[in-house]
Amino acid sequence: VVVSLSDLEKLAVLGHGNGGIVYKVRHKKSHCLYALKVIRSNTIIGINGIPNHVEAEILKKMDSPYVVKCHAVFDNGSCSDNGVSFVMEYMGGGSLYDILKHHRTLSEDVISEVAKRVLEGLNYLHAMHVVHRDIKPSNLLVNDKGEVKIADFGVSHVVVEEKEKESNGGGGDYDLHHYGNAGTCAYMSPERIDPETWRGGGGGEKNKNNGGDDFAGDVWSVGVVVLECLLGHFPLIGAEQRPDWATLMCAICFGEKVEMPETASPPFKSFVLRCLEKDWRKRATVKELLQHPFVNRGGCCNFSRKRLGDYVVLQG
Ligand code: ADP
Ligand code: MG
Repeated sequence: VVVSLSDLEKLAVLGHGNGGIVYKVRHKKSHCLYALKVIRSNTIIGINGIPNHVEAEILKKMDSPYVVKCHAVFDNGSCSDNGVSFVMEYMGGGSLYDILKHHRTLSEDVISEVAKRVLEGLNYLHAMHVVHRDIKPSNLLVNDKGEVKIADFGVSHVVVEEKEKESNGGGGDYDLHHYGNAGTCAYMSPERIDPETWRGGGGGEKNKNNGGDDFAGDVWSVGVVVLECLLGHFPLIGAEQRPDWATLMCAICFGEKVEMPETASPPFKSFVLRCLEKDWRKRATVKELLQHPFVNRGGCCNFSRKRLGDYVVLQG
């Protein structure tokens, strides 16, 4: 058990995020590996205005095989910076973003396996009244066994709001098809981007938890990720485009058709279209998708079948 931050030694940097840095760390006594996410105070706002210590409590309560486990939360403690540090389960296979950057596309079998686990994770989070709001490849992590889990929830929610403000103000450049890390808004549903048009409510409601309907936004993001895994680039705009915020917003909210690979199987196509339904009221729910044929392919007797673990890029 990690009792204090001094029990841990830093081995390497695993990732730089918007909110802070993630280190690979080792527990000095047990030699167990963990990931340590250190967040500066000025980037923390709190889930829907909930104070940070409550947010940390929510994180610690999450306990599912489909969600990256947070073992402990510490105040950084220094007087200049009262941010927090999260001690998390170490996911040695990196993120789906890393896998896509390396392999570009995945087979339908593997995508089905990923989709099923992400849906199980969302089913768990939603039952705990947590809306993830930032499902995207870099927040889906893979462990040494090749199992994908949802990471960066709650905390990342905060970061989305920050990015949103930036992009609404200045309009940034988004490097989507090369999996640049600026794609946060790219996975957002129409009703999250433009609540006035798509939710029928005022934009001021945006940061409030609107109850059950918020969950539909996470389903949209699953659809974008699943399609991206088969296409090899961000699906809602052409592979050659480097869109600004306005182009991206138009594509998400008003884009007429989804670029669907011709070779995709009927269950794949149907799954994606059920996720990418612009009207959140008509969109499939997580529970419905867990019953969908695409994630219930059965027949695991095919020995040549690839698994996500076969795609894992060894971390340096
Ligand atoms: P941010 O809020 O900054 O996006 P994330 O929690 O998504 O932070 O972490 C950023 C990156 O760090 C991830 O994309 C992943 O590459 C790496 N990372 C995060 N958590 C872990 C973990 N538990 N195990 C291994 N790598 C991790
Ligand atoms: Mg992240």
